[in-house]
Amino acid sequence: MITIALSKGRIFEETLPLLKAAGIVALEDPESSRKLILATNRPDVRLIIVRASDVPTYVQYGAADIGVAGKDVLNEHGGIGLYQPLDLNIARCRMMVAVRNGFDYESAVRQGARLRVATKYVETAREHFAAKGVHVDLIKLYGSMELAPLIGLSDVIVDLVSSGGTLKANDLKAVEHIADISSRLVVNQAALKLKHRVIQPMLDAFAGAISK
Ligand code: ATP
Ligand code: MG
Repeated sequence: MITIALSKGRIFEETLPLLKAAGIVALEDPESSRKLILATNRPDVRLIIVRASDVPTYVQYGAADIGVAGKDVLNEHGGIGLYQPLDLNIARCRMMVAVRNGFDYESAVRQGARLRVATKYVETAREHFAAKGVHVDLIKLYGSMELAPLIGLSDVIVDLVSSGGTLKANDLKAVEHIADISSRLVVNQAALKLKHRVIQPMLDAFAGAISK
C-alpha cells in the first residue's frame, strides 16, 4: 500500500492533475466527504487528508509514504527524514514582511529598533531577521496575521502573499520579500528504498506533468 498525504483546498485541487498523470484518481472529494482516508482507483494507493502543516510529520514518521507540502511548511518543519525530489510548481505565493501603511519599516530597521513580529512562520522569521541583523520579538500566531499590526500586537508580520488583496483590504503593505513559495513532493526516505519499484514510476509521472 502507498499512502499519499495531502491537505484540503488548493493543494488537493492542484495535485489532482498530477495524480491523474500517474494514473491515480480519488474516488471521493474531501471537500464533500468527511472521510480522512480516501480510496483511489488503484487498490494499492490511498490518500489521507491532513492539516497542511502536518504533512511533513506524517511523511517523516512513515505514516504516509509521499506527501505534498508548501516550502513554507517544510522550512518550519526542517525537513528531517524527508526526500524532496520535486518542486511541483503549484500553490505558488511569496513569503513577505508586511507592515501597516504609515509604518516606516526602513527607518525602524536603520535605527536598530527592536521589532515585534507576529507570524505563523517563526523559524522563517527568525532566520530572516537574524541574517539582516535585526533584533526581533517573535509572537507565534496560528492565523489572521493581518490583524496583529492593526491592533498593536506587532509592528510587523511575516506571511504568505499571493495577490496582495488581503494586505490591501487591511491597510497593510508588503515591505520585504523573503522567499518564493511553491509546493514540493516529499517522500519518506525509507519508503523510497523499500517501495522503490512502485514509488519511482509515480515520481517520474509527476515530474512529467509539472507545468513550468
Ligand atoms: P489552515 O488554513 O488549516 O491553517 P494553511 O493556511 O496552512 O492551513 P492553506 O491556506 O490551504 O492551509 O495553505 C496550504 C499551503 O498553500 C500553504 O502551506 C502554502 O504553501 C500555500 N498557500 C497558502 N496561501 C497561499 C496563497 N494565498 N496562494 C497560493 N498558495 C498559498
Ligand atoms: Mg490558510
